[in-house]
Amino acid sequence: MLTDNIFYVSEYFRSIQGEGNYAGVNSLFIRFQHCNLKCLWCDTKYTWNKHSGLHILYTQTEIKKVVAENTATHVILTGGEPSLYRLDKLDVQGKKFHVESNGTIIPTHPLNIQMDDGSVFSRGAMDEKVISKYNWVISPKLSNSFQEINEEAIVFWAKNEWCIFKFIAKKGSDLTEINDFIDRYAIERAKVFVGLEGATLESQIKPGLVDEIINFGFHFSPRLHVMLWGNVRRK
Ligand code: SF4
Repeated sequence: MLTDNIFYVSEYFRSIQGEGNYAGVNSLFIRFQHCNLKCLWCDTKYTWNKHSGLHILYTQTEIKKVVAENTATHVILTGGEPSLYRLDKLDVQGKKFHVESNGTIIPTHPLNIQMDDGSVFSRGAMDEKVISKYNWVISPKLSNSFQEINEEAIVFWAKNEWCIFKFIAKKGSDLTEINDFIDRYAIERAKVFVGLEGATLESQIKPGLVDEIINFGFHFSPRLHVMLWGNVRRK
């Protein structure tokens, strides 16, 4: 099945971007259904497959209408894994798009994969001229998620000027693992943001761990939605 004009949407809502290089920015979030990973600590398990949560089929035109009619300038495409879909088809003039991806899929390559639930995603390559205008936030998973990394995709993102990397750390050894990871793939330190694991305000206030993040030369990413609302959906 060609999925170039098929977009399974779990939900859309307004909030602030909680993390990364645009933290605090008032944004429209569009959350896509389906993910090619199953991270142990995933907080959106309802997006994993066609059985895991409610979702609605949108066409490209329908999503662009939602984006155009919303007053938010910033649009966060998240999931699930958004790069399963033709995100280049969603560009709307005057809007700034952001993509939150697990970094296992190369968007400029065609994709043809069968998911565990039997769904097939078969899309064409995204147009680099369009998606290089988007702010891609790539979150490779550490060993604590028990997921495999796609080396070819990480090499693609490491060389790329239109992405940042975002990691989540719980303890000092996670920072060492992040450091080894960015050295292995020659990722520029200036592109690396690290946030703290957890779903409570208390989990986000760890000055000692932030000192270590500073010493490694990484940026610290707050997780504002967690600090303000805890682990609440649509925030
Ligand atoms: S990649 Fe993201 S959405 Fe997919 S399982 Fe991991 S944390 Fe959840």
